Amino acid sequence: MLHVKATGIDCIDKSIFTSEDTLKSLPKYTMPDATHRGDVIKQLIHDELLLDGNSRQNLATFCQTWFEPEIQELMALAIDKNMVDKDEYPQTAEIERRCVHILADLWNAPQAKQSIGTSTTGSSEAAMLGGMALLWKWRDRQKKQGKETLAPNLITGPVQVCWHKFARYWGVELREIPMEGDRYIMTAEEVIKRCDENTIGVVPTLGVTFTGHYEPVDRVCHALDALEKQTGLDIPVHVDAASGGFVAPFLHADLKWDFRQPRVRSINASGHKFGLSPLGVGWIIWHEQEDLHPDLVFHVNYLGGDMPDFALNFSRPSGQVIAQYYNFIRLGRDGYTAIHQNCQRIALYLAEEINKLGEFDIIYDGSDGIPALSWKLNDKPHDFNLFDLADRLRTKGWLVPAYAMPKNRQDLVIQRILVKRGFSQDLAELLMKDYKDALAHLNKHPLNESLTEAEAGGFKHG
Ligand SMILES: *Cc1c(COP(=O)(O)O)cnc(C)c1O
Repeated sequence: MLHVKATGIDCIDKSIFTSEDTLKSLPKYTMPDATHRGDVIKQLIHDELLLDGNSRQNLATFCQTWFEPEIQELMALAIDKNMVDKDEYPQTAEIERRCVHILADLWNAPQAKQSIGTSTTGSSEAAMLGGMALLWKWRDRQKKQGKETLAPNLITGPVQVCWHKFARYWGVELREIPMEGDRYIMTAEEVIKRCDENTIGVVPTLGVTFTGHYEPVDRVCHALDALEKQTGLDIPVHVDAASGGFVAPFLHADLKWDFRQPRVRSINASGHKFGLSPLGVGWIIWHEQEDLHPDLVFHVNYLGGDMPDFALNFSRPSGQVIAQYYNFIRLGRDGYTAIHQNCQRIALYLAEEINKLGEFDIIYDGSDGIPALSWKLNDKPHDFNLFDLADRLRTKGWLVPAYAMPKNRQDLVIQRILVKRGFSQDLAELLMKDYKDALAHLNKHPLNESLTEAEAGGFKHG
């Protein structure tokens, strides 16, 4: 009898919601003294995270939110391996090298096998490395010519915050071409106006954060070629292809935005965006060895062997890199093309539907840039703004960001959707139903006062 009873208690003990811990709030400021049951604490943290909502409904993020089970398994397999330990985990290092070569080939590097590059934690780190390579190269040139190296500048269109960081951290003047009227991206003329001998490089974006457009890398390169002919100024180009680097090769193969332009010396992209890998991987590839100043590369011997290292991080996870390789091989060019084509089709569908509502103007419809769309209110009078609409959609779990544009169009508020793998036609139709309902609600119950951007919470462009 006693035995049976003990087993019974044991069973109850193991039930998570009989635990005392489920009647307490979790410690928030100090570490508890006592050890707790893992299953209980895991459940409580799991449940707290429910309040984050469902990432699949996050149409603001550029990052992937759906993964094959094989990716989850490969990530688990790699949990104990440090990407930096290239001597200790030589096959992981080898897989990173293969990814670099595959990307150099995908981006049409003339000698992809000799190309040089590295994985990073994302495009932000990759942009920092790319910017540093431009800065070192420019300093070298100036010194050789006996010139000043005090006032470097970098020319960009409306860029992601990582370039603001690069410029501030390294004391580089950012000559960011502002939006004017209906021009939301850089043009070759605007670039050329800002060039001088202190320009370390020009950074066009393939997949502008605010709208989804590609900036005209080819036209910018040609204009810089002409400038060199006229003045002798040889200004390199780095392409921020955070999102477009994994889209253009599959959807816009004829667009010569990559190493087919000899002036493009380096390219960065985020593996965790349209590269379809889990969060935490970016890439940077240089056209050739000479583009990377030797002073930037460290050689460490304490991991065994002599390992060249150019990164801001030291230890970092390797699973994302392995997952990237899995995607390359498992999907192939056909798979990437099919996935991104489907996303593009859905972006076009949504743009058409939103256009039909009669209250909006489409700014970008997904056809000639990344699978995304953006729109603004049309000129008719409206009793609500896009922040109100975004707020209303949140009640159904959808995150469809509304935000003001950067300089000089801060007056313009737009909404944007990123269409990623896993966003089916069926989900798109369900979203449109909720969008129409939100619109009908706001038209039927006019607000006393609309939301401001700050009240709406704001969105990160990640
Ligand atoms: C997302 C993005 C970045 C930053 O990339 P992370 O991978 O999030 O660090 C930089 N530039 C552009 C154009 C982006 O879209």
